[in-house]
This record gives sequence, C-alpha cells and structure tokens, in this order.
Amino acid sequence: MIDEARLKILTEGAKYDVSCSSSGSGRKNEGGIGNGFAAGCCHSFTPDGRCISLLKILMSNDCVYNCKYCPNRCDLDIPRASATPEEIAELTLDFYKRNYIEGLFLSSAVEKSPNYTMERLVRTVKLLRNRYGFYGYIHLKGIPRADGELVREGAKYADRMSYNIELPSERSLKLLAPQKSKESLLLPMRTLFEERTAFRAEKRKERFLPAGQTTQMIVGASPEPDGQIVRLTQSLYRTMGLKRVYYSSYVPIVHDSLLPDLPAGQLREHRLYQADWLLRFYGFTAEEIAPENENLPLDLDPKCAWALRNPQFFPVEVNRAPLEALLRVPGVGGRSAQKIIEARKYTALTFEHLKKMRVVLKRARHFLTAGGKFYGAKDEREIRALLTAGERNDSARQLSLFSGAAYAALTGEL
Ligand code: SF4
Repeated sequence: MIDEARLKILTEGAKYDVSCSSSGSGRKNEGGIGNGFAAGCCHSFTPDGRCISLLKILMSNDCVYNCKYCPNRCDLDIPRASATPEEIAELTLDFYKRNYIEGLFLSSAVEKSPNYTMERLVRTVKLLRNRYGFYGYIHLKGIPRADGELVREGAKYADRMSYNIELPSERSLKLLAPQKSKESLLLPMRTLFEERTAFRAEKRKERFLPAGQTTQMIVGASPEPDGQIVRLTQSLYRTMGLKRVYYSSYVPIVHDSLLPDLPAGQLREHRLYQADWLLRFYGFTAEEIAPENENLPLDLDPKCAWALRNPQFFPVEVNRAPLEALLRVPGVGGRSAQKIIEARKYTALTFEHLKKMRVVLKRARHFLTAGGKFYGAKDEREIRALLTAGERNDSARQLSLFSGAAYAALTGEL
C-alpha cells in the first residue's frame, strides 16, 4: 500500500504534464471492471487547464536526467519517491472503485535507466489489464531511449501513449534537456505510428493504442517563434498521425540561468490552440497561419489575422461558396458551415438565417455577403479596429465566466 507522503510527491510531480486529455477509446468492457469506451472515460480541467479525473501519477520522481525546466531534475535537492507496479495498480483499482477516477495517466521520471523505468511502467499496465481485469482508460508516458520492444509492449495494453517533445528544436533540447534528442523522441513515436497503422490495416483483433498518441510542447521556455511551433505541429499530425498536440505556457517552477525568469503569457498558448484548430479542422496549412520566424498576433485570432492578410478571397457569398471557403470566414465555425451548406439547398440564405445558425456576425459580416447584401466595413483598418475591440470584449467576458482563458484554451475552436 502506497503511503500518503509518497503519494503526495508522485502526484505533485505529475501535474505539469498537460498531454493527458482523453476522449475515450475503442476498449470495450469484456467482462472486467471499468470501461474506456466512447465517453466512458470523461475528463475535466482545472482552471489552469490541467486535466483532472484520471489518476495522474508518476511511478518515480527520482530522475537521472537533468532537464533544466523540470522540478524533478536530478541536480535538485527535493524529496524523492518511487512506487512499485503493484502499488500503482492497487491504488488505481481502489480509486476507481470509489468513483474518484475514470482512468489512469501514468508517467515517470527516468529512474536508474530508460529501460528500467519503461519496464516498470509496462508491468503496471499489464498488471491492471491481466491480473485485475481493468478495462478503464490508461494513458502511458513513453520514456525516451527505452527499447522499442518495451514501447510496443506498452502500446498493446495502454489506450494512449505520449512522448513529450517539450522543446520545439534540437538546439533547445541540447541546451535545456541534454539527455534527450529529437531522435530519441521521434523514433518511438514513429514506431508506434507505423505499428498502429499496420494493426489497423491488417484489421488485427488485438488492440494497439486505440486512442493514439499525443505530445506536449512548452511554449516560451526557448526562443522558437510560433511559426516554427505551428510547422512542427503540422508535421507531427501529418507524419506521426498524432491525435493532439498540447501546448503548455512556460512557468518558471525552478530557477535556471538558461531559462526566462518570467512565465510565458497564457494568451500565446491560447493562440497556438486556435492555430492548431485551423490545422486540424479548417484546412489551413502552417505556412498560411504564420511566417516561420514570427509569433502569432496576440490582438487577433489567427483566422481573422489570415483573412485580413488575404482580402482577395473576400467577401464570399454564403449561397454559393464551397465548404472550404466558408470554413475560412472568421465567425463561421465548422458546424455553422455545415448548416449553411444544408440549409441553402432549400432556401436563399439571409443574414437572419445566419444569425440563427450561430454565425458570429460581428466578425463574419466583414467577410461575406448573403444574397448579395454586405453589412461589413470596407476599409481594412476599420475592420481590424472592430475585430480587435470585439476580441478584447470576448476575452473579458470569458475571464469573468471561467476564471482564466482555460475554457477556450481547451479546444482553440474559432
Ligand atoms: S526526464 Fe527530464 S522532464 Fe522527465 S522527469 Fe526527468 S528531468 Fe524531468
């Protein structure tokens, strides 16, 4: 039985990882306990955007690595603790039965060696599945430099795995996380991606990461601009089939002369989530969203900023424009665009119709016409001023409702 002191250390040490958001997986209950299927494993977030509802714990915080930004790094004099696979498995079951959690997010510092640590993580998950018949959701962290065999074994039992990129360039990794490298993170990601693709193509009965992979990047600990981060994100979605990339604003938890003294603003993180949404759902490319060596504008969301840079595409006529063009109109979301396509089969759409479809007209009116009518401002400077003012009001309202920009940062939906 794990004691309270160790439990406190191990759960405290895990809380900075935001790559654990879960939305269920294809693991059905086949006669055991729990259920990770569909919405069976729901999740919620604390006001600062961290995921709660899973038991989120480290196997150990006793790290042999020395990542400068990490409160568990080896050169810090902090209380250290480790748990055994049996202890973690029993704790998960115990919490599950008490209805405290729906699943497990299991991570670890690199204790002794990557293989030693990965072997213990995998053993925990196997215990839960094989000995206790636990079918609940499990998110397992991958340990860089562990053997491919161990990584694959873990993926057969976990729903989701993640290798955190943390820093968006090899240069910053060398400087701030010297024991890690781009290759040590991307290689296992690729292994998992290829194996998962093969399992699915062959329609194999055994499960292999049904909920896929995610990763996390720290924003603002190193100098890479948003344009570079968005390009890396795009490449991870395209080449590794990632389900999500999470962004975590840098917070100076531990001091180091190589790191900034001040936290990175949450607004920058929020803009990256919005850019991410454009990549995944609205057909934008990273190249369209931001120049490689620039940050995203803070005063406007990236879709509005793109529309202002590309006036040649506007206004679009809602009664004729294809879905792809509608999705690029600021204020028209994915669901509204679908509704427009459906509704215009039966009637000529007006601004009244658009309002009912929840199109955000205070933004959209500058970029579209309905039946030839246009109600927006024509001058780019005026549009920018109106959009920026609207953005400020929205942020203020959001802050009062959700005590932080956390709600919108959950999705980045535009
Ligand atoms: S590997 Fe790096 S980030 Fe992970 S626990 Fe160790 S020091 Fe922290």
